[in-house]
Amino acid sequence: MDVSVFGTGYVGLVQAVTMADVGHRVVCVDIDANKIKQLQRAVPTIHEPGLSTLLEDNLKAARLSFTTQASDAVAHGSLIFIAVGTPPDEDGSADLHHVLDVTRTIVGLMNEDRTLVIKSTVPVGTARQVEQTAREELSRLGKAHLCVRVVSNPEFLKEGSAVSDCMRPDRIIVGTEDELARSQLAELYAPFCRNHDKLMLMDNRSAELTKYAANAMLATRISFMNELANLAEILEADIEAVRKGIGSDPRIGYHFIYPGCGFGGSCFPKDIRALLHTAEHNGLPLRLLQTVSDINDAQRHVLFRKLQQHFPDGLAGKSIAVWGLAFKPNTDDMREAPSRYLMEALWREGATVRAYDPEAMSECRRLYGYREDLVLCPTRDDTLLDADALVICTEWKTFRVVDFDWLASKLRAGLVIDGRNLYNPQQLANAGLLYQGIGLPQIA
Ligand code: NAD
Repeated sequence: MDVSVFGTGYVGLVQAVTMADVGHRVVCVDIDANKIKQLQRAVPTIHEPGLSTLLEDNLKAARLSFTTQASDAVAHGSLIFIAVGTPPDEDGSADLHHVLDVTRTIVGLMNEDRTLVIKSTVPVGTARQVEQTAREELSRLGKAHLCVRVVSNPEFLKEGSAVSDCMRPDRIIVGTEDELARSQLAELYAPFCRNHDKLMLMDNRSAELTKYAANAMLATRISFMNELANLAEILEADIEAVRKGIGSDPRIGYHFIYPGCGFGGSCFPKDIRALLHTAEHNGLPLRLLQTVSDINDAQRHVLFRKLQQHFPDGLAGKSIAVWGLAFKPNTDDMREAPSRYLMEALWREGATVRAYDPEAMSECRRLYGYREDLVLCPTRDDTLLDADALVICTEWKTFRVVDFDWLASKLRAGLVIDGRNLYNPQQLANAGLLYQGIGLPQIA
């Protein structure tokens, strides 16, 4: 099929390459000319396992192209994906101006009927708003005979495994009551449903709410575990034992019950704020979700608080090694990453950060520039040079195996604070290190 995609960020780009890879002809458009130039040269703009090969292969096969010309994309795709950002507005609500700008652009340029597929995460009622905007624009431009169909098709990919999530989705939510649009989406996604039918048909509003409900549920599990971890510390219980104990119950399961230093990323915090705003606006404040959000706000500072406790005379002049900058492994995304809350608090206190991340170093430089109190180190081990303590923010595989005796010889204060509970506390204690995870009992 001929498909166009507006927005070549994490969602648009990955969606585009996977659709091209199964044989659809895909044109991508973005207003960021640098991004487009880079993608035209087959250089990925984000780090995602498997992306680079798919990008190169499909560009070569001429099933995929990139442009800044919206007119090319509108002329090409009978299906047009909208995958632009929906950042939080000042009041927490989702800012829809990119989505509505794209809608007006498409309508202004179209000369045939088009189906708009909303991939961006958008509040309930947005599909209706897009439809209305399109209809008003069409009649203003004297093109009222043309038809715009709108489908809500939220995306559930996870950064770090985005390509495989798009290639093998658990489910494909298709929100529309338009029969033609349903059959177009069924044809588009048929190559992804060879094993069994993954399409779930529903109305727009339910589809829009499904996306927020999924993220809210996952965030709730994390905040629940983080709160329990903080209690476990007081009670001198081991949250890791508790985690395994409850995860073995199939009604609970092991997914998303890891305690840590708070959830981050571009989606959970933003989507929770947006859902809270929607609920409040509709006269039903979500008390549970508000608490989930409050717990997370506090948990983001847990690593810094633990450091402060160990340095009662203050952190000024201290040098802190930080392993992991991305909000989770296998991505270079640092949006709302726990590392940022830690580093910014350390800088306020006058400490120096020596940081390493396998993929997010350039992103960190882009965000913070060159400053004396940020040393980006070429390897994990270089961060330890003259460091007082080590803090782990992201559970990259490369941090899992460490010679603890060697580590103990490097750290001036012999302190390791682990926001991801990567290690066996006894092993660190044996090496003479002071080890603090999240919700773990203190071993002397
Ligand atoms: P992103 O910021 O990485 O990318 C958005 C892209 O849209 C940018 O490249 C931007 O330049 C482009 N853009 C903005 N206005 C445009 C316009 N008028 N025309 C063409 N391009 C335009 O965002 P993302 O992470 O890909 O997220 C996109 C949407 O998908 C958001 O609503 C997000 O909540 C949702 N989502 C994200 C994820 C994720 O893991 N990142 C997962 C599921 C859903």
